[in-house]
Amino acid sequence: MKQSAAKSAPLPDITLDDVGGIPDEMKEEIGQALAVIKDPKGAEQVGLTPPRGILLYGPPGTGKTLLAQAIAHEIGATFFSSSGAAFTEMFVGVGASRVRTLFDNARKQRPAVIFIDEVDALAGKRKPHGGEESEKTLTELLVQLDGGNDNEGILFIAATNRKDMLDDAFLRPGRIDFEFQVPLPDTQGRREIIDIHSKGKVIAPDVVASFDRLAESTSGFSGAELSSLFEMASRRALRDGRTEIGADDLDFAIDRTILGSTARALNDP
Ligand code: ATP
Repeated sequence: MKQSAAKSAPLPDITLDDVGGIPDEMKEEIGQALAVIKDPKGAEQVGLTPPRGILLYGPPGTGKTLLAQAIAHEIGATFFSSSGAAFTEMFVGVGASRVRTLFDNARKQRPAVIFIDEVDALAGKRKPHGGEESEKTLTELLVQLDGGNDNEGILFIAATNRKDMLDDAFLRPGRIDFEFQVPLPDTQGRREIIDIHSKGKVIAPDVVASFDRLAESTSGFSGAELSSLFEMASRRALRDGRTEIGADDLDFAIDRTILGSTARALNDP
């Protein structure tokens, strides 16, 4: 199936409160950047210009997409979401034309956030004998990011697990103004994410009382893995004809998650 270059959605109903484990310092910086976007005139008076590009980097499943959606929500923007892989094409010119279309569409619906996940597939370091097509696509992205006034009301957010692979020209300030590392959550972060994903679920009181311990014992788990714990535990309870998630269900989900990541590590050492 062919991937379309971008999906647009009106306003993701996700706020910054839905993203757990974000370091305080980063929250503050994001808040400041968003304040400038929300009040560009006020910011101009103190010599600040709205950021045009943000890079979110960190391990898979740590909430980079979620954070991009929350940012779009905070600034009331239409969310255009795509993946770097959707721009890598064999035919010369197709990737570049998709980049142009994406920005053109976003410019018609300002304020807009353009989110590109796995941006390394699109903005990877240029190689001396690299492919003509990938080079053209990246050049087009740089041209679009340099759009000047044409980019007013457009915030570009890129995410990657491989920041080291990105082209230096792409990372230049003016194109990417902020870089935020989105790490695996620490114990407190895991506790926040557990709270977020246990909300709305029927859970036995003794299990709820042990959430601090759950946060401590899930070191190395990503936000996505913590979220799937509750989904898996819910499904198991339902399968057994119970309405409430019990300790066994959660233990089962933890074991399955650990087994899954061990298998992945063995396959991809
Ligand atoms: P990838 O690098 O693989 O694209 P990602 O960092 O973009 O992953 P998301 O797609 O945002 O991760 O996370 C997947 C899901 O996991 C989210 O929709 C959410 O349910 C949950 N999740 C991940 N991180 C967090 C977090 N920090 N707080 C709350 N939920 C989270």
